[in-house]
Amino acid sequence: MKNIYRFLLIIPLTYFNLCGISYLIFLPSFSNSSQEKIFVSDDDLIEIKESPNLALIEGNFSSYILSVKLDEFTSSVQGNLSVDFYNNDPESFEKLPFHLYLSGMEFESRIGNIEILNVAKADNSDIALTFEVDSGDQIMWVTLDTTLKSFQRVSFIIRFIATLPDGGIDRANSHGDDYNQSRIYKVANFYPMPCVYDEYDGWNIDPYLEIGDPFYFDMAYYNLFVEVPIGFVVAATGKLVEKKVNGLNALYHFDTIYPVREVTFSTSKYFKVDSKIVNGVNISTYYLPKSQSIWKNYALDYGINAFTLYNEIFGIYPYPTFNIVEEYSFFGGMEYPNQVYITESIDYWEYPQWFLEKFIVHETSHQWWYNLVGNDEVDWGFLDEMLACWSTDYYAEIYHSDWKYFQYELYIDEVRTYYAKEDLPNRINQSIYECYTTYADYWYIAYKKAPLILEKLRNSIGDVNFFSGLKLYFERYQYKIALLSDLQQCFEDIVGTSLDWFFLPWFDNPYLPNYVFTSVIYDLYQSMLYITVEDLNEANNNYPYSQQIPLQVYDANGEILFNEIVWINSTTTFSIPMTINPTEVSLIYNENVLGQLSSVDIESLKAGVENPVIVSIIIIIIIACSVPVGLLIIFKIIRKRKKNLMDT
Ligand SMILES: [Zn+2]
Repeated sequence: MKNIYRFLLIIPLTYFNLCGISYLIFLPSFSNSSQEKIFVSDDDLIEIKESPNLALIEGNFSSYILSVKLDEFTSSVQGNLSVDFYNNDPESFEKLPFHLYLSGMEFESRIGNIEILNVAKADNSDIALTFEVDSGDQIMWVTLDTTLKSFQRVSFIIRFIATLPDGGIDRANSHGDDYNQSRIYKVANFYPMPCVYDEYDGWNIDPYLEIGDPFYFDMAYYNLFVEVPIGFVVAATGKLVEKKVNGLNALYHFDTIYPVREVTFSTSKYFKVDSKIVNGVNISTYYLPKSQSIWKNYALDYGINAFTLYNEIFGIYPYPTFNIVEEYSFFGGMEYPNQVYITESIDYWEYPQWFLEKFIVHETSHQWWYNLVGNDEVDWGFLDEMLACWSTDYYAEIYHSDWKYFQYELYIDEVRTYYAKEDLPNRINQSIYECYTTYADYWYIAYKKAPLILEKLRNSIGDVNFFSGLKLYFERYQYKIALLSDLQQCFEDIVGTSLDWFFLPWFDNPYLPNYVFTSVIYDLYQSMLYITVEDLNEANNNYPYSQQIPLQVYDANGEILFNEIVWINSTTTFSIPMTINPTEVSLIYNENVLGQLSSVDIESLKAGVENPVIVSIIIIIIIACSVPVGLLIIFKIIRKRKKNLMDT
């Protein structure tokens, strides 16, 4: 969800005035009895008295132990990743790729970096494995010492040092200062992250991208060990299962319990913490003292409200913890498994509570749409953002009785008038790379057009079918990777019929329909009104649109003679029996009608009615009047010529 609110950082100022070797080497074992257990407050460890009632998770997963130690002065973490990789693909591999994202992030004086120290076998650290780093693609390839066959496992350990970008406010950074009690170390995408192999791309080795989220990970079990100086508060993916003292440092051990797509942690000496257990899940907020008036109580309430709603309508969140953590970023927020970040810059905006609530709700929904149900964020990036935006608006419908409460500019206005402003094709179903080449606006596609189309689907198939479809999608694809076609299939399984008529045009056409009345004729003798509506964009699109639009017919006094919702299937002709002379017809652009408009002020498409009989009578009268006039003129000309002849 980056870029989610890249605009919003600008708009508020205008619109509103707007884990291995090193686990053994760097970190002492937790079984070491010489270590002293330190005081653990309620904020650190909250006993879970009740647990979510969960089904067993099917399938094998990779398993990682990530152990790191923070150096607060160099903004770096040193550690290792113990890899137990499960090959869930029908292919054999000689090499495995890992993302090294940090160098792709924004920085000021020092670029982010992940330095690979070595890779060694898990059962014998003296045996090194060869690896190659491709800095341009931010990828490391580890060459295995044996062929990894399908459905087999391989283990090795990667030692690394990750240095956070300096000065930037991207996904990972150290920012703020001690004087203002505002320094945070946000440690995300900071370790060699295993790539995904799929049937579409082979290995997905895309680098960090400037548009959208470049992330695409398989589910895996993680144990995360973080060592920080005593006094630092740590928020991380997973349940805190143990905390110990190691000299001047504290060691935290987090266990995700269930598989996740990745892990992150953030740490600060200044974090304040609010927590509450809801449905057996410890929900916590971490924020800076400077933001206390905005965050305290409010942020936790927003998180709990969103969490409770989504748990009920989508499916059970299985993990024991969920954290909402303040961050420095140029976007509104960012999702990670079990932990989301919300920008501190809203402290300086007008309506900070409105933004805080919107961002928390949006990022919370990503626990269902991104973590539990995963997507290839490069090829189908719009998919989880569409669901997250729609979920945010549904929260607004429930808690604020207004689906549009969080839409500072209404989706429908922006979508209908987009082409009047940009005139660029904007198909939803396209990859980030395609957006680069087609100049499509990913922000508009994923955050505005797509959620509006999803709401249109809800209105088309009804609430019962829609919510059953979402539940089925979650149930069928949790812990897996889903495509747009999978979402469509779930809705089709619920309604029992093909939904190609909806999904193909609305997701795959580059242009919205652009309707005009090409013929509106009233046949007086047959008492029948014939109407033809044409979609001017039909030739520019791949699939014909079908949607229901209210049609009204009026008489000369403006009285409504006909008022029904009709299906406009691309270019459509239909006839309406009518005994009173109609003079005007109108297609009403209500909130469920999508079409290309030149202005948000346009509320309908109007046309006058032609009446061939009346027209014929007028023509006859004109002809009838013109014959004597013509004869008179001819007579006068003849007389004049005769007179001229006589004169000569
Ligand atoms: Zn998002």
